[in-house]
Amino acid sequence: MLFLLFKHCGEAMGRRQTMMEKYKIQMKAYRKKRMKSDSTPYLPPEGTVYVIDSLDPGKKIPAQVVKTRVRSQRTVIESLACPECKNEMLWDDNWEAFICTKHGKKAIYELVIK
Ligand SMILES: [Zn+2]
Repeated sequence: MLFLLFKHCGEAMGRRQTMMEKYKIQMKAYRKKRMKSDSTPYLPPEGTVYVIDSLDPGKKIPAQVVKTRVRSQRTVIESLACPECKNEMLWDDNWEAFICTKHGKKAIYELVIK
């Protein structure tokens, strides 16, 4: 009887550990996602930024920096002016690029560090 009780407790604890493990995994994924969501690129020290059109990656296009923000004592680029239509393009974490939603089709510009 005592053994049975013990076994039962052990099972309950085992289940709780599984829950804890699940929680830990979720937290890890969440933190990874949060870290990933702050992949905003740094502003190069000289301040000159070039982008490439992801549909036409042949040429480097100079882009004007519109908005910056300081993160961990470094300046990151929050937005750029679209080289095509001058619309403000925001950084997109999923594409890891700046996206212009103004002109025609969705334009994706990847930052190039020379
Ligand atoms: Zn544009």
